[in-house]
Amino acid sequence: MSILVAGGAGYIGSHMVARLVEQHQDVVVVDNLSTGHKKAIDPQAKFYEGDVRDHDFLNHVFESESIDAVVHFAAFSIVPESMEKPLKYFDNNTGGMITLLEAMHDHDVKKIVFSSTAATYGVPESIPIKETDSQEPINPYGESKLMMEKMMHWADVAYGIHFVALRYFNVAGAKPDGSIGEDHGPETHLVPIIMQVAQGKRDELSIFGDDYDTPDGTNVRDYVHVMDLADAHILALKYLNEGNDSRAFNLGSSTGFSNKQMLEAAREVTGKEIPAKLAPRRPGDPDSLVAASDNARTILGWKPQFDDVHEIIKTAWKWHSTHPNGYDDRK
Ligand code: UDP
Repeated sequence: MSILVAGGAGYIGSHMVARLVEQHQDVVVVDNLSTGHKKAIDPQAKFYEGDVRDHDFLNHVFESESIDAVVHFAAFSIVPESMEKPLKYFDNNTGGMITLLEAMHDHDVKKIVFSSTAATYGVPESIPIKETDSQEPINPYGESKLMMEKMMHWADVAYGIHFVALRYFNVAGAKPDGSIGEDHGPETHLVPIIMQVAQGKRDELSIFGDDYDTPDGTNVRDYVHVMDLADAHILALKYLNEGNDSRAFNLGSSTGFSNKQMLEAAREVTGKEIPAKLAPRRPGDPDSLVAASDNARTILGWKPQFDDVHEIIKTAWKWHSTHPNGYDDRK
């Protein structure tokens, strides 16, 4: 039996595939390569190029392979882009979940682990954020993912498809051997942008706002290493295999770092100056997002290995400094 990884050519998906392959699992990857990279997919995984919104394509994959469970990463994930193009997010993210759940139902696949997000909470009612806190997204990206969580809930009620929704906070870093890492075009995320400034590929970092309600005025985020995230997905599959009920888990380090603190940490790790300037606020950014992730630790048995942002940044730097052009496959 194989694990189907939808979006396995993307940043987080490719690290998940690498981890599953390390554990001798049979892996089937589905990806339309709209933002992912073929070179990021472990060669031991079987790859089908296609779109999760494509009924016939998914049916073909489910008919050709013996799929035991699905791990779903195939989605757009850029908050500012979602503010400008909301329908793109509802079409791909929310629409993709409909087809995927239909295909699972048609082929009697009953387990899905889903890549959800802290953005489903919107402006937190308190910090750290608990899974039971209210979910009122303030951007279309978060809304599209909340709708996907709700679809899984009703598919569970109707068809008995059990799910785990993993609500990530900020993911960063790369596989420690530097063989795969983060490569978005255009890049919008803080850590890879800081790495690009350190590499000399950008002149400076723009810090989006310093008048937030946080200790140094810049946004506070909770960073998790991408391999620790992959491990949480593997534990979530185990949780579902053991017959447990559907539920959501936060995945964070429970410690917040401000944008200025991340910049300082990156200066220490890289030994580079990394020039930065203040820029206006970016729409859709809550002041702070920090997770209460005790449930993932106690119920799933999750033990993140990277508990220091310097260590996370060190792995990101290894990938960026050895792959100055990322996967070097842009058309
Ligand atoms: N950020 C920034 N400059 C950049 C990119 C991001 O100041 O060039 C800030 C952004 O406003 C947010 C934090 O870095 O406060 C993390 O943003 P990112 O896009 O990495 O992740 P998000 O929190 O949106 O998922």
